[in-house]
Amino acid sequence: MRKYILMGPQGSGKGTQAALLARELDLTAISVGDVFRWHVQNHTKLGAAVRRIMAAGELVDDDLVETVVNERLRQHDWNYGFVVDGFPRNRRQAEFFLESYDIDAVIHLDLSDAEVRRRVLARRLCASCGMDYNLIAHRPDTADRCDVCGGELVAREDDTQEALAARLRDYREKTDPVLDLFRRKEYVVTVDASPDAATVQQAIRTRLGLPDAEGVQP
Ligand code: AMP
Repeated sequence: MRKYILMGPQGSGKGTQAALLARELDLTAISVGDVFRWHVQNHTKLGAAVRRIMAAGELVDDDLVETVVNERLRQHDWNYGFVVDGFPRNRRQAEFFLESYDIDAVIHLDLSDAEVRRRVLARRLCASCGMDYNLIAHRPDTADRCDVCGGELVAREDDTQEALAARLRDYREKTDPVLDLFRRKEYVVTVDASPDAATVQQAIRTRLGLPDAEGVQP
């Protein structure tokens, strides 16, 4: 059983790297941001509670986050382990998590603020199927249309200059110190997130002593 946490600023590729790790190692990928986005899109009570907070780029209340994480992990669909992204984001969440779960490693994706801004403001999502695009690195064949389903490509509501500034500030002030806490326990491997996704994935595998990635060529 392998249990990993992926940490890094916005746009550092946490979701992409989690999916690549999960696919070949049979891990369950858990993204707290995705769970919240699902609730917003499906107009649930939880979605109504978090929508404005998310759109402003602020952090959702710890109690709500912990409930979501607990419920998700209680589903026990992770026989071979899990990879969590977007959590923990502050000291309290880290302590809560370590009380209940032991982890094998924290994968830290390192990216400069300038590159974060460049990537995040170019990010687009298909409004129909959720496929990720990026106007710099992964452009759609037809402008503003999803290559897979033809759906409209939109920016995430929190990928604006203002919301990104708030998210980056929270990341540097609240999430970076969590990395120090994990570093003291010698869990952290730091990987440069600036190359392409396949290169980053390979670097993660090497650092964790995992088999090389299949089907992802740098
Ligand atoms: P993400 O996709 O990880 O950037 O998350 C999108 C948004 O969901 C964040 O900007 C927060 O509003 C909320 N969120 C996700 N994970 C957490 C967390 N661990 N703690 C607090 N808020 C979170």
